[in-house]
Amino acid sequence: MNARLPRRAVLGAALFAPLAAPRRVSAQAQARLLVIGGGFGGASAASFARRRFPWLEVTLVEPKTRFVTCPYGNLVIGGVKRIEQITHGYDGLRARGVRVVHDWAAGIDPAARRVRLQGGETLSYDRLILSPGIALRWGALEGYDEAAAEAMPHAWVPGDGAQTLLLRRQLEEMPDGGVVGLAIPANPFRCPPGPYERISMIAAYLKRAKPRSKILALDAKEAFSKQGLFQDAWNELYPGLIEWVPSNRDGRVVRVDPRERVLETEFGTRHSVAVANVIPPQSAARIAIEAGLADQSGWVPVNPITFEARAAQGIHVVGDANIPGPMPKSGYIANSTAKQAVASAAASLRGEAPPQAVYYNTCYSHVGPEYGISIVGIFRPNAEGAAIVEVPNSGGVSPRGNLPEQRRLEATYADAWYDSITRDMFA
Ligand SMILES: Cc1cc2nc3c(=O)[nH]c(=O)nc-3n(C[C@H](O)[C@H](O)[C@H](O)COP(=O)(O)OP(=O)(O)OC[C@H]3O[C@@H](n4cnc5c(N)ncnc54)[C@H](O)[C@@H]3O)c2cc1C
Repeated sequence: MNARLPRRAVLGAALFAPLAAPRRVSAQAQARLLVIGGGFGGASAASFARRRFPWLEVTLVEPKTRFVTCPYGNLVIGGVKRIEQITHGYDGLRARGVRVVHDWAAGIDPAARRVRLQGGETLSYDRLILSPGIALRWGALEGYDEAAAEAMPHAWVPGDGAQTLLLRRQLEEMPDGGVVGLAIPANPFRCPPGPYERISMIAAYLKRAKPRSKILALDAKEAFSKQGLFQDAWNELYPGLIEWVPSNRDGRVVRVDPRERVLETEFGTRHSVAVANVIPPQSAARIAIEAGLADQSGWVPVNPITFEARAAQGIHVVGDANIPGPMPKSGYIANSTAKQAVASAAASLRGEAPPQAVYYNTCYSHVGPEYGISIVGIFRPNAEGAAIVEVPNSGGVSPRGNLPEQRRLEATYADAWYDSITRDMFA
């Protein structure tokens, strides 16, 4: 565990004061649902709550006025999409009756059911949906801090898109013949196939614009999501361009030197590169850790049916911040579990049992601009309601083999997925 995680995270639930008794509302009465974080989990929750439970008064707290999605960010890095095409505003949610407050949640008081905002306002809630995403663990790789990220972008928490655009600009400015180095973390982290889609989209750009260049992907793992499909496609589309180095061949980066643009591995190999994309180890976002919701892992244990934090009644933690069992940390899972969390919160406010739960995931990856692959999974709580399990034979990955029409179609399905999920969140 990273020594920099606040001590509160380790102490977890033990420190909690007794909680206020949960409030029940009659069929006519309104109740206050507060949502923190306006990304995949939070925007999905706020929109769904207003559509499905109009008696919920919904407030969304999100500092940014424009949300740049991580999904399709790799296509911006590869020069296939523009950043405007993956940027969304909150007017659609306002039109649905959500009160949108652009501020940071600075502290949660679970006992009093109140959230303090950085701007000074305090918001009370009957139920809280918390979907603040991830924090990058600065310092977990020696030398990699916020200042280093200005030279070696992560582009893993897009914020206003600046990191994504920085990596894109560095690729454009790099001389032909340079090496692009990536440092890829161990599990768990946001979007398991994401680094490999990124490698692919960078390769597509280099093949087109800088064909003498190479990619060196240094990985802290020995295997990765959709590996066979990715590697087949790399051999087919980008032969000789990509070297992937797993941890058992000294792929684990432990130290970086942003000034010299050097990635150093655990056995002391120093790789000097022209562009470095460092994806550091991660944890739940700060607000979740400071509220004492996370365990020693840095992530938040939750009830698999209601997504209530194990450490605090009335706070449902969805999205990448929680421990999702076998489910990936994906935008689709954030969307799917946010709906279950809202429905459970609404049921509980009415004194009813939570609805039956099923969670869906499809992760598409672009390996080329018109070459898509996917992984699908369906998950549900086990019979005891104690853990989430994958429904047997419910999913799988795209078939391997020479299937150009399937790859072309999956790239168009990916576009349709992006349009429909972002409409579900923001329209
Ligand atoms: C390169 C890349 C590609 C990806 N591609 C895909 C894909 O194709 N398909 C897919 O399903 N997933 C994909 N993902 C994963 C997906 O982006 C995440 O799983 C998803 O964003 C998680 O949703 P979230 O709500 O937990 O976090 P986010 O979407 O990051 O939203 C968190 C929000 O909370 C806000 N916030 C944080 N702290 C506070 C606070 N204190 N107060 C108020 N607001 C706060 C942040 O500003 C942010 O807007 C990809 C990720 C990456 C990095």
